[in-house]
Amino acid sequence: MEFRGKTVIVTGAGKGIGREIVRMLVERGAQIVALTRSGADVEALRGEFGCRAIQVDLADADATREAAIAALPADFLINCAGTTELQPFLETTVEAFDRLVAVNTRAPMIVAQEYARSLIKEDRKGAIVNVSSVASFVGIPDHAAYCASKGGLDGLTRVMAKELAPHGIRANGVHPTVTLTPMAVKAWSDPEKAAGMMKRIPVGRFAEPADIAEVVLFLLSDEAAMVNGISMPVDGGYMIA
Ligand code: NDP
Repeated sequence: MEFRGKTVIVTGAGKGIGREIVRMLVERGAQIVALTRSGADVEALRGEFGCRAIQVDLADADATREAAIAALPADFLINCAGTTELQPFLETTVEAFDRLVAVNTRAPMIVAQEYARSLIKEDRKGAIVNVSSVASFVGIPDHAAYCASKGGLDGLTRVMAKELAPHGIRANGVHPTVTLTPMAVKAWSDPEKAAGMMKRIPVGRFAEPADIAEVVLFLLSDEAAMVNGISMPVDGGYMIA
């Protein structure tokens, strides 16, 4: 898949899956506008990949909209930024719930609104990939707010797919299983929990960021021109196990 001459907005580009997506897209000729939080990552993205990088806290709705507008124009959008907080359901706090929904659900909506508005105004086609999780399909203990936020994101993906496709903009979701990134270290560092999860993955391993990035790029590309509104697990068979 070639992305030569294409500009792609990637949120959460600083680490993990987002960073691998950036690396792969740059290798395939794309120019990147990265939206991410840490100043050090912004500098690294500029230095290493020649990205246009915008520092933003996606938990802040106004700052997110401002950053999304500053990122335009773009051909494609990948909403990859995400965050988690491990809390049992009975101890899930309103603060954590609101923060996860703000970053994992509301920010993708805001960025996609500005991206789609600009394409529609210019009568151009495009595609959006929202990085969700297998956690939107199943109940994972200690992940109540995370599961809810990703379930909400899936709802948004489906509505975007219906409302934006008539304008030539497709929207799809990608649902990774445990992927070896800083987030996975936070969520799966308990060896007992990790072993239980691994047992349910028929291919017998956790995902690497590149496993996810390849699928994201496929859904973004013209090769997937008839794929719209799907929730694609990238889970080594976890969902059928
Ligand atoms: P990482 O924690 O490794 O990286 C997340 C990236 O998103 C970082 O660059 C981070 O920046 C950025 N980010 C997080 N919060 C904000 C914020 N408030 N404002 C701006 N940027 C922010 O996560 P992964 O790469 O593992 O995850 C990427 C996506 O994949 C997420 O949506 C996640 O939910 C999903 N996913 C991950 C799985 C996994 O096992 N890793 C499994 C299933 C889904 P900073 O570090 O500066 O905050």
